[in-house]
Formats: sequence, structure tokens, C-alpha cells
Amino acid sequence: MRLTFYGVRGSIPTPGADFIRYGGNTACVHIELEDGTDIVLDSGTGIRKLGEQLVKKQTPIHLLLSHNHWDHIQGFPFFTPIYQENREINIYPGQTMLNEPDQIIRQMEGSLFPVPPEALKANITIEQLPEGQDKFAIGSAVVKRLRMNHPGKGSAYCIEADGLKVAYITDNELYPPYKKETDFLEFVMFALDADLLIHDAQYMLSDMPAKTGWGHSVAEEAVKLAMACNAKKLALYSHDPERTDDDIDDVVTHCNEYVTIAESTLHVFASSEGQTLDFS
Ligand SMILES: [Zn+2]
Repeated sequence: MRLTFYGVRGSIPTPGADFIRYGGNTACVHIELEDGTDIVLDSGTGIRKLGEQLVKKQTPIHLLLSHNHWDHIQGFPFFTPIYQENREINIYPGQTMLNEPDQIIRQMEGSLFPVPPEALKANITIEQLPEGQDKFAIGSAVVKRLRMNHPGKGSAYCIEADGLKVAYITDNELYPPYKKETDFLEFVMFALDADLLIHDAQYMLSDMPAKTGWGHSVAEEAVKLAMACNAKKLALYSHDPERTDDDIDDVVTHCNEYVTIAESTLHVFASSEGQTLDFS
């Protein structure tokens, strides 16, 4: 398994000199399995760059969406494989409150985008799983999904393949003030013993209570989850657009204080655009 971050920013792209090291593109992660299967997590603006690589292949692409907020679908019209003749692209929509499984394509309709959905040459299939089916196979991977706590709702994913387990949980508020879809302990069981937990860490405790209910977690709670589920690594994800590179360094330092106090072996890092993990 080879995993690369293509977009790690939450809410809106953040270009600028203060955001170069961690990157300003929104949510997108690519996982290539040993059998060659390509799994893409979310279609934020980071997916444009990934498209430059995947357009060189002809094999199916499996796109797992957490939900339909703009920062998770906005890059799709610029993902060049969608214009490839007969390229197989399977889209798994998130479990959103409104049942809009093809919203990622409909964002190209009407006055919103110059190229209409009819111009897409790829064979795009919306794979809407029946309610209650939360486990499925993609290539050699076993994929599980779980509902998240977020305005408009959405899905987390756990991918097990090549002897590794990766959990992708964003955008998710671990302790929301509104009615929870999923309890903290359910997230623990979902990501139990993960080699890598990628989790929403948009805020810090110091940002609260101003941003409670906005649908994101604080970094300290992501650390708590990672330690509770015995994850080997925690990738802080969905960085706040206000957070500069230096600010993110401070978040990591602060999180590591918790790890030290807990005498944990957890490795915490802030995900950054272009960063690749090969788990070797
Ligand atoms: Zn969202």
C-alpha cells in the first residue's frame, strides 16, 4: 500500500506564502494497493494534481466520498480521468442527510460550470450501497464505512489491504452539541489497531466554545481517539484555513505533549500535501 496526501486543508483552498509547507488544497488522499487498485478519498481541489498521474493509467478508479460539502467535491470537474473515453470511475457517495448521491456530477450543471456533465467521456457509476451494508470490497481491499457527526452528515471509511489498516475520518465532530450519529467508542472500535488514522483536527481546544457545532474535531480529541484505538500513527487532517505552517507546527508540538504525558508510542504528525507513506 502506498498512500499520498493531495489535499489536507479544510473548508476552502488556502494559497499563500504562509501555507506552502503543509499545502492549501482541500481534501484528497490517494491509496494505491499492491494489486494496482486505485482508491481515492474525497475530491477536493487536491484531486486535480492526482488526475495528472491517474490519467496515465487505464484501470478503474474508485472514489469514496465523505460528503458533498464543496471542499470535498470541488476538484472533480478538474480531475482529467473523467474526460477519458470509457475510463471506469466508481463513485461511492457519503451517507448524507439529503439523498443526493450524484451531487458531485450535478455541480457541473447549468450556470455553475462551463463543461456540462454530458461531456464526460468516462464510464462513471454511482455506487450507492443499500442502507445497512457498511462493508464492501474494492480490489483486494475490505472497506468499511461509518456515519459521522457533521452538519449534513457523511461517512468515514476504513480500508484494510496488504496487511494494513487505514481509517479516514473527516469531517467529524467527536463531541458535538447536536444529536450524535456515532459515539466516541464506536469510532474506537471502527479504527481499532489502525496502522494509520487520518482524522479531522481542524480546531484546538483553545478555539472552543466559539466553534462548537461546526462539525469538526479539536486536535486534542483526535489524539485521544488515536490512543484509545491503539493506532500506530495519527495524521492530523483538515487544517483550518486560518492556520499557517508555523501554527500547524505548534499544533503538532502541543499534541505530542499529550502523547508524552500518556507515555504512548503514538506517532502524531500533520498531514501535508505531497507527503507519501509506503508503510515499509
Ligand atoms: Zn464538511
